[in-house]
Amino acid sequence: MTALNVAKFGGTSVADATAMGLSADVVVANPDTRLVVLSASAGVTNLLVAIANGQLDDAALAEHLGKLHQIQHNILTALGNPAEVVAIINSQLDEVATLAAQARQHSDAELADRLIAYGEMMSSRLFTELLNQRGHRAVWADVRTLLRTDSRFGKANVDLDTTRAQCQREIGGLMNDAIVVTQGFIGADSEGRTTTLGRGGSDYSAALLGEALDVATIEIWTDVPGIYTMDPRLVSRAKPIPEITFAEAAEMATFGAKVLHPSTLQPAVRQNIPVFVGSSRDPAAGGTWIRAETSSSPLFRAVALRRNQVLLTLHSPNMVHAYGFLAEVFGILARHRISVDLITTSEVSVALTLDHTGSQTNGDSLLSEAVLAELGALCKVKVETGLSLVALIGNRMSEVNGVGGQVFAAIDSHNIRMICYGASTHNLCFLVNEAEAVNIVNCLHHGLIG
Ligand code: ADP
Ligand code: ASP
Ligand code: MG
Repeated sequence: MTALNVAKFGGTSVADATAMGLSADVVVANPDTRLVVLSASAGVTNLLVAIANGQLDDAALAEHLGKLHQIQHNILTALGNPAEVVAIINSQLDEVATLAAQARQHSDAELADRLIAYGEMMSSRLFTELLNQRGHRAVWADVRTLLRTDSRFGKANVDLDTTRAQCQREIGGLMNDAIVVTQGFIGADSEGRTTTLGRGGSDYSAALLGEALDVATIEIWTDVPGIYTMDPRLVSRAKPIPEITFAEAAEMATFGAKVLHPSTLQPAVRQNIPVFVGSSRDPAAGGTWIRAETSSSPLFRAVALRRNQVLLTLHSPNMVHAYGFLAEVFGILARHRISVDLITTSEVSVALTLDHTGSQTNGDSLLSEAVLAELGALCKVKVETGLSLVALIGNRMSEVNGVGGQVFAAIDSHNIRMICYGASTHNLCFLVNEAEAVNIVNCLHHGLIG
């Protein structure tokens, strides 16, 4: 077999029949594309998450179910209402309604994942039908037979060995003579219960399945022609980046560039698989190649922004020359499965931000009353919100003279709450007030990138 390619299409790329048609063009244009990984149609996961919360009143629930019905049936109509697929989608919509009623009685993370998974289940059925109608041999596969996770509903961890064995066994041969269409975002635990990988997780699914099937390339098709120097919605001067290293792109994804789920590049790095990001609406516009090495390695490559940051300041006079304080703090956070993102210390206080990356599907707040109580028994705790994290991404940033001066000059009139610099040569990041964030990323981009 020749080099395999896995192609992932995001929500806008499967939003309706027209978008699906353009995505199908992209699939068949590359004969190496033997596996297609799909998100739910745009807006569907948000509707399902709201339903799964179980808080909607009768009218709101009916409205949500109506919208879901409309999105699926618009696509079915465009496909000519093929009886077999209409029956499948209708029964899936019925199952959503049944689970919605259960969620109103009692909503938990397991039920939520089962419900939320229907978005991808439906889009993948419709896309398979579209490819078949165009005369291509496409076969639908249930990703729950491929991607094995633990039972951490809402943000499951993947079992790589089982996933590899299942992928090779279930679809390794099938891909020789068919295009296999499956779902992103979803997996199943060892008991076959449906799990999800966290919001935006389909990118990560594509990379995981690609790794398990030893593909040569991974394509992420979305609504922008590549990774830009900053989110083009926020900085109009931002430009697409033709090629970027794994290290830089991973920093961008971690620090808020929503175009890639933060974990996407882990499988690609493990197996050294190049990743392409492009627009399914405009494939001719090109895109970004992410690889281990690139020909250019600029000092400043891009800017990223992550909103809704929580800053935790822990203050204790006992900290002076003491040992073990940080160990206790981290012990508490670890027991509550909270991962620390940035940290700075002074003589009697520690400031840290919490890692929101790949946020849970159920959107639970990271800081529970229980964590705050445990920390409060150890020291004085201050929680601040309304903050954004701005990251400047590049190369050798802590090795080149004058970087700090250039950065501060670019944003000189703004207030900075916290800075992290030096842990990675690829990034310098700081916390700012939410209200100033967009202005600051524009200043930084203008001053340092273009
Ligand atoms: P999909 O549904 O295809 O997964 P997403 O909405 O998750 O698409 O990601 C694409 C969006 O990411 C773009 O529309 C853009 O607004 C945003 N984005 C954020 N940062 C960047 C960046 N640096 N380059 C390109 N897009 C970015
Ligand atoms: N449909 C899921 C979400 O909206 C996963 C994805 O699109 O990547 O989060
Ligand atoms: Mg996405």
